Amino acid sequence: MSSFTDLFNSLSWDEVKQSIYTKTSADVKQALNTSKRTLEDFKALISPAAAAYLEPMAQISQALTQKRFGKVLQMYVPLYLSNECNNICTYCGFSYDNKVKRRTLSPMEIMQETAVIKAMGFDHVLLVTGEANQTVHVDYFKKTIDLIRPHFSNISMEVQPLDLEEYQELVACGVNTVLIYQETYHQEDYKKHHPKGKKSNFNYRLETPDRLGQAGIHKMGLGVLIGLEDWRTDSFFTALHLNYLERTYWQTKYSISFPRLRPFSGGLEPKVEMKDRELAQLICAYRIFNEEVELSLSTRESPVFRDNIIKLGITAISAGSKTNPGGYAVEPESLEQFEISDERSPAEIARMIKKQGYEPVWKDWVYEFGLEGADGR
Ligand code: SF4
Repeated sequence: MSSFTDLFNSLSWDEVKQSIYTKTSADVKQALNTSKRTLEDFKALISPAAAAYLEPMAQISQALTQKRFGKVLQMYVPLYLSNECNNICTYCGFSYDNKVKRRTLSPMEIMQETAVIKAMGFDHVLLVTGEANQTVHVDYFKKTIDLIRPHFSNISMEVQPLDLEEYQELVACGVNTVLIYQETYHQEDYKKHHPKGKKSNFNYRLETPDRLGQAGIHKMGLGVLIGLEDWRTDSFFTALHLNYLERTYWQTKYSISFPRLRPFSGGLEPKVEMKDRELAQLICAYRIFNEEVELSLSTRESPVFRDNIIKLGITAISAGSKTNPGGYAVEPESLEQFEISDERSPAEIARMIKKQGYEPVWKDWVYEFGLEGADGR
């Protein structure tokens, strides 16, 4: 079975980085003016040389997004099921070496959280856990999905990487989307940030999207944790991964997220800081490079940034998020994974979206009405 690893191993981080940083204005103009864009064009669009072209990039990105997705934004909310974790990750409040109270929600607690989420209006939920295979395993996920399926038309997951057979079970159970972020494609730095636990296996994580594609997942989400390494080089490898997956698993849809390192209890400072203008450049670059990919923005970002960026390429946005298990109803004071930045309620976010002439959509209508068959999928 093919995997992304061979393609990844054929490239050198340093050479890719150098080729991004030596792109010129002429390369950027070429990338903006062509109708069929390559990964070399993507490099130009994320390069320092493209910083001076943010305005035309924003215009193209906005037009492409409206043409493909209309003026709508999908709304979703995370439901943290557990903060138990056997991994040490240097950037996360749930890291094994962070001596804090751990909890995994029981079925009754999950329903209490669900009631609050439903009352906020959500129909799309993202289930989140750490990696604790002794308690938070596939059986736990399947029981949770059976429990909440009647209440949500769209269930996404962001949990530990699983084996192919486990993904097949979850797909059969009704999981719509799985998010799996590589964190960084810099192999040496990856090891530094993941010194203990199953997550320290770089290659197993790198091949997880392949297993998801083989399991026939409807949609998968990719991304890196911005701040761990050079964001331009990491974003190139994400785009490379996306490109490979789209060609290999053409029946699956894809989304990209742009999490920037946020403060948390005992936290890590970003090695490389990304400015707001640079994040805007990256979002536009992805859209110009790929008209089909969904682009998602979480409450990690500030209200001002989110208000200004939603028209430029974003297609999904979270709101009212709590990043701790029980955060909505059961135990609001438990440890958060990270601090959120946009603390507005879902209703406030929906009003902000409408004010900008867009429509907040609380469910994934393509999936809900089975229209994915319309484009041959
Ligand atoms: S990032 Fe995930 S795997 Fe790492 S410590 Fe946090 S919850 Fe665990």
